[in-house]
Amino acid sequence: GGFESMGLIPELYRPIQGYNVPTPIQRKAIPQILAGCDIVACSKTGSGKTAAFLIPLINKLQNHSTVVGIRGLILLPKRESALQIASVLKVYGQFENLAANPDILICTPGRALQHLLEDRLKLSRVQMVIYDEADFLFEIGLADQLKQTLTHLPSQKHSLMFSATIPEQLSMFASVGLKDYIFCKL
Ligand code: AMP
Repeated sequence: GGFESMGLIPELYRPIQGYNVPTPIQRKAIPQILAGCDIVACSKTGSGKTAAFLIPLINKLQNHSTVVGIRGLILLPKRESALQIASVLKVYGQFENLAANPDILICTPGRALQHLLEDRLKLSRVQMVIYDEADFLFEIGLADQLKQTLTHLPSQKHSLMFSATIPEQLSMFASVGLKDYIFCKL
């Protein structure tokens, strides 16, 4: 299966046309995500993991409803990673529908929490939440901020977790609402 068999919105084929075939993690994860499954994906930087979650995220949000507010939330441990992903998102998501309404937020749990507590951010409309570099997100210090941030999200949401290593405690997944997930490993 290449990208053509995934049933993506036509607009997405232009930015990814330089990619001949999906990487292994993309081939495993994207169809499961498009099918609506929560996933935990074990993948390192360089495996094509950013596209593995941005493509399904854009595909899901392109259907620009009248819903206003953040619909896609990407949580990661470092600000630098957020800037990196934002630049990739710009390339993939440069069509009109998404540009009209900035409804994807990429940030650290600490930053999100700061805005939430100062009443400058609402996450009650989030449909998809992505935990990137999840192994670091669950480290001491960040884990508490993560859990607090998640109390502001609706309980019904699509959750994707990407991690280079799989956190030892599987209970951590449950603590962020991940229960019946598909495990995608290379
Ligand atoms: P990442 O693992 O997200 O850091 O991606 C590593 C690099 O792989 C990035 O420069 C992407 O542009 C590139 N990439 C992502 N998906 C593909 C693909 N299907 N074919 C070729 N390159 C890709």
